[in-house]
Amino acid sequence: MLDLLIIGSGSSALSAALFAKESGLDVAIYSKTKGVESGSCMAQGGINSTMPYGTNTLQSHIEDTLRSSCEMANPSMIEYMCKNAQECIEWLQNKGVAFSKEDDGKLSQRKLGGASEVRACYAQDYSGLKIIQALNDSCIKEDLPMHHDMFLLSLYPQDGYQSATFLDINTTEVIQVDAASIILATGGYASIYKGYSTNRDDLVGSGAIAALRAGIRLSDLEFVQFHPTTLLQSSILISESARGAGGIIYNQNKERFVDELLTRDKISREIYKQIEQGNQVYLDITHIDHEFLEENLPQEIKLARTYEGINPLLEPIPIKPSAHYSMGGIEVDKDMQTSQKGIFAIGECANAKVHGANRLGGNSLLELITLAKKAITYIAKNHQKSSQSPKDIRLEDKEYIRSIYKMPCKINFYEKRAMLGEMMYKNCGIFKDANSLKTTLTQIRQMQNELRFMGIGDKSKSYNTNLIEFLEFANTLELCEAITINALNRKESRGAHFREDFPQSSDEYKKTQIIWKDDGAIHSGFVKVGP
Ligand SMILES: Cc1cc2nc3c(=O)[nH]c(=O)nc-3n(C[C@H](O)[C@H](O)[C@H](O)COP(=O)(O)OP(=O)(O)OC[C@H]3O[C@@H](n4cnc5c(N)ncnc54)[C@H](O)[C@@H]3O)c2cc1C
Repeated sequence: MLDLLIIGSGSSALSAALFAKESGLDVAIYSKTKGVESGSCMAQGGINSTMPYGTNTLQSHIEDTLRSSCEMANPSMIEYMCKNAQECIEWLQNKGVAFSKEDDGKLSQRKLGGASEVRACYAQDYSGLKIIQALNDSCIKEDLPMHHDMFLLSLYPQDGYQSATFLDINTTEVIQVDAASIILATGGYASIYKGYSTNRDDLVGSGAIAALRAGIRLSDLEFVQFHPTTLLQSSILISESARGAGGIIYNQNKERFVDELLTRDKISREIYKQIEQGNQVYLDITHIDHEFLEENLPQEIKLARTYEGINPLLEPIPIKPSAHYSMGGIEVDKDMQTSQKGIFAIGECANAKVHGANRLGGNSLLELITLAKKAITYIAKNHQKSSQSPKDIRLEDKEYIRSIYKMPCKINFYEKRAMLGEMMYKNCGIFKDANSLKTTLTQIRQMQNELRFMGIGDKSKSYNTNLIEFLEFANTLELCEAITINALNRKESRGAHFREDFPQSSDEYKKTQIIWKDDGAIHSGFVKVGP
């Protein structure tokens, strides 16, 4: 039995694995994909930190993060994250991350949206990729066991240890892994908004749903961040660094209708309104020094050329807002422990109360590393070897997989997933109200009833992507139901959650909303913002 099983291979998982190895824990990574296929590798803008030589202050980082959270975050968790930022940047540099530098050798920094000061360290606009490559290389050097093509099916809390089941994608066998502790690092769920998300298609909260089914509490699912500047046709992100460098937003009449450096929620709402009125919205960077753009935003220039068919150095970029980040997720305490003792969650899949109702650009990468270390410190200190002999708990999952192969393919679930993505964007997205949410809930439940007619056409037993996509669609439906219930319950507007029928914030709802399952039934309620 392992000391620690880490599920996922993004930057939070790999950092946790490296810290765990340093702490002497017997650790292994199980993940659906390799690190370079995670959400982490997509990060462009950078990672926030004060610098010993910079003009920015720790206090302003804390204050900006608190303000952006709209009172839904825990000040002591924010303070912890911001205070540990410099150490985190040094650690990353030691692991080999090549941050962009000035001529005098100091790290370059840029201003991201909602920030009152320049504070994001970056590696051109490949920040996430450079970080994950360095972490991945370090894990290989440390000989850390990394098992890829492993899709998490279920979590089974046991007496004194934890078990998880995975579908081995190569063989379609159900395998079981047992450990004294488990860390979930399975990423966010913004891709439930299919067709309207900056995320990889498979980031649909499968880890959070496995937790929910195991009786673990989730929280604040209604807080989904929409990024204002994504390519009109593909929803690919054009990062805030473009606006930080002086990019402007206007409509087809060249009317500027919003301050480009406001927080993401506010800009997204203004752009959405323009589009609803039939206007086209553009991000214009043509006036910025071209040499500067090619040096600092090479990826974004390429993405606009490839996926929108325009040259952003010469033409404005057509944009729309898209779902980008999930602030809500698996409810955790200050040590990142979930409501199930021995099961932890870190990174975007967790709600550690450092972002609240609206994440500040550059704070996610920072959270991944600082809070991964916090979790490992707690786990290493409290670790106890389990003397139990694990029992085989795979039967239910094996039967579920077998039943999927037998389901009729009367309804195409890919079409339903596209419909669901569009419906969530329009009815449970940037704007929502009781009517749109109730309609959405009815349609989701209808799709859940029809799921047994949405089988898989591909019956092969090796690398069956049709099967994995079915499992992800089933998870998406379950999560959409929970998000919509939470959005209906929160009868106020706050940060990224905007209710047209309740446009003001209300003290009554200055609370964390918990959602959990008991015997298959969903329950929810509000509690004081913790941990
Ligand atoms: C386009 C883009 C740009 C961004 N830019 C920035 C930025 O500049 N600064 C910033 O701070 N943040 C940025 N973010 C946010 C940040 O990148 C993410 O929040 C962060 O990287 C998430 O890391 P993670 O380790 O939690 O999850 P991920 O990196 O998404 O990793 C999740 C892992 O879990 C695995 N997994 C998922 N489901 C299962 C399952 N069922 N079974 C097994 N494994 C599973 C996945 O395969 C993956 O390996 C950006 C995000 C995007 C999409």
